Amino acid sequence: MPPVPFLDLKEGYLELKPDIDAAVSRVVESGWYILGPEVEEFEKRYAEFCEAKHCVTVANGLDALVLSLRALNIGPGDEVIVPANTFIATWLAVSAVGAAPVPVEPDPRTCNIDPALIGAAVTTRTRAIIAVHLYGQPADIDPILAMGQKHGLAIVEDAAQAHGAVYRNRQIGAHSDAVCWSFYPGKNLGAMGDGGGVTTNRDDVADRLRVLRNYGSREKYINEVQGPNSRLDPVQAAVLSVKLDHLKKWNARRRVLARRYLDGLTGVGLPYVPNWADPVWHLFVIRHPKRDQLQSELTELGVGTAIHYPVPPHLQQAYADQGFSKGDFPLSENMAGDMLSLPIGPQLTHADQDVVIDAVNRIAARI
Ligand SMILES: *Cc1c(COP(=O)(O)O)cnc(C)c1O
Repeated sequence: MPPVPFLDLKEGYLELKPDIDAAVSRVVESGWYILGPEVEEFEKRYAEFCEAKHCVTVANGLDALVLSLRALNIGPGDEVIVPANTFIATWLAVSAVGAAPVPVEPDPRTCNIDPALIGAAVTTRTRAIIAVHLYGQPADIDPILAMGQKHGLAIVEDAAQAHGAVYRNRQIGAHSDAVCWSFYPGKNLGAMGDGGGVTTNRDDVADRLRVLRNYGSREKYINEVQGPNSRLDPVQAAVLSVKLDHLKKWNARRRVLARRYLDGLTGVGLPYVPNWADPVWHLFVIRHPKRDQLQSELTELGVGTAIHYPVPPHLQQAYADQGFSKGDFPLSENMAGDMLSLPIGPQLTHADQDVVIDAVNRIAARI
C-alpha cells in the first residue's frame, strides 16, 4: 500500500475491533445464519436512521436496484431514465429486468442528473427514473419527483454512495418509491462483504421486496413469484449495526476533510455543493485536463487515487449492442477523462491529507 493509500478498510475495522469482534462471535454462536433477529434489528435501525417506514435488506446494492424495479413492475419493453454518468450497476439493474436504460446527461456543476434534461428523454414507454446521489452529493430530487408525477413515472434513488446525506433538511431515504443502498465494504456504511438494502415509505413495495428476495416466498415452500436468493448475511447485519452507530461521526470526519480540501487545493477543478445539499463525501473528486499525468505523478509520490469512472456505461462493451457512440454524451465522456478521486476515508489523518494537498498543488502548478 502507498504511504497515503486511497482507502485503507482495515483501519476502519481496527477502530471498532472489540465491538465488531463481539458482534461476529454473537452471530456465530447463535446458530442462526440466515435472516432472523440480527437482520431484523439492522433493518429496524437503518429505517429509523433514514427516516423511512421500512428497510428491506438484500444481498448487495445491484440486487437492491433490480428487485426495486421488479417490485415496481418494470420489465421488458419499458424504458428507465438513468444518469449517463454513474457506476454501471445503475444501468445493469435496468437491463437485468429486461428494460432499456435511457441516459440523461448531468448538470456539469453538480455531476448529478440534470432535471432540466429529463423531459426530453421521456417517451410513451418511459416507466421510471433512477436518480443517483453520485459521490455522496444529493441529486436534485424535488424536480425529479415532480417529473414523475407529471408523467406517471416511478422514481427510484440509487443511494449507494449517500448514507446519511441530507436533501433540503430531510435525510435521503424515503423521498421516492424505493431508495436503494449498497453496503459494499468501501461505502460510507460498509459491511465486511457484500450487502444491500432498500428503504421506502410504501408498504406494498416493502412487502414485495421481502417476498422477492427470498425465492418469491412469504411462507416456506410456498412460492408466489419467481425470485432470487438475495438475503443479507446475519454476520454482515451484525457488523452493520455496530458501524451504523459510528456513521454520523465518520461522515462528520469526511465533511471536515472535504472542507480542508476545498480550502487548501489550488489549480484543480473542485466539487460544487448547492445550498440545498448536505453531502456525505463518499468520494472527493477533482478535475484536471491532464488527469492521467496528475494521477501518475501522485502515485510516484506515494499518494493513492482512483478514477470514478474511467469509461461511461454507454461506451462499455457490455452496452455495445445498444447503438451508442462516442460523442453521444459529451459531458459524461469529459468527466470520465478528467476526474480524479482523492483519499477521503474517515481514518485519513489531517497530516496525511496535507501530504496529498501539497502534492496536488505542486503538480498542478507545473503541468
Ligand atoms: C456501489 C454502487 C452500486 C452497487 O452496489 P453493490 O453492492 O456493489 O452491488 C450501485 N450504484 C452505485 C452508484 C454504486 O456506487
